[in-house]
Amino acid sequence: MTSEWRRRDGRIGVLTGAGISTDSGIPDFRGPRGVWTKDPIAELLSTYDSYLADPELRQRSWLARRDNPAWQARPNAAHAALVELERAGRAVTIITQNIDRLHQRAGFAADRVIEIHGNMFEVVCVECDYQTTMAATLDRVAAGEADPPCPSCGGVLKAATIMFGQQMDRRTTVAAALAAQTSDIFLAIGSSLQVEPAASMCAIAVDAGADLVIVNAEPTPYDSMATEIVREPIGTAVPRLVAEILG
Ligand code: NAD
Repeated sequence: MTSEWRRRDGRIGVLTGAGISTDSGIPDFRGPRGVWTKDPIAELLSTYDSYLADPELRQRSWLARRDNPAWQARPNAAHAALVELERAGRAVTIITQNIDRLHQRAGFAADRVIEIHGNMFEVVCVECDYQTTMAATLDRVAAGEADPPCPSCGGVLKAATIMFGQQMDRRTTVAAALAAQTSDIFLAIGSSLQVEPAASMCAIAVDAGADLVIVNAEPTPYDSMATEIVREPIGTAVPRLVAEILG
């Protein structure tokens, strides 16, 4: 393990996962208090084929979206530290698996955040080009439509997120891979690195010569590629690492 990576100039790529938002009150999926760890059936809510096939599951999904703690969540010290890194003049691109927009709400430049799994603030139709806001759709749910259909074609509506089994947006994936490939330092923060192709951004960065630094409480499949592994809680680890990089 070397601390030299802190002194590298150049581009910084950051891959974030649900673990960066747990301090903001949004549970992760696979951590010890994760949504799926506590209720494995909840995984079906994020599975595309089950969602399309099962109206009852969709009703449950709309309620889960309504009750998502992310609506009330505020960015935490780790989100703020990444903003500081950018404002200090470093070229930083965030590839986030999160759908909560907390990086942007912390003040990180929206055009430097790649939402590789989409976001929870927009709604799309699976059949046609119809798009609307989550707020407008949740108003329909509150008014009594338990599984609101597309007003344009009658198709199934869903959050603008990428579910398991759903095709990733090609342009977004290519942009993420390019950001990884051109990084000199690549920080993977708060992800179990079990979801592909998001996790493989770590390998793309390392293959192109970046130092990989993993900040996560639990081991990941990419630990053997890392220059440094940080097990300290994200809320203190990320501000400390940013201070050391800027130091
Ligand atoms: P994950 O749940 O698989 O893994 C999160 C990891 O973060 C775990 O290994 C956990 O130990 C670690 N962790 C949690 N809090 C931590 C802390 N304070 N300090 C150190 N480590 C901590 O999450 P993932 O890899 O992002 O994959 C889950 C998928 O679910 C993603 O694709 C994402 O789209 C989605 N998701 C998003 C949100 C969100 O937007 N906030 C929340 C849950 C799930």
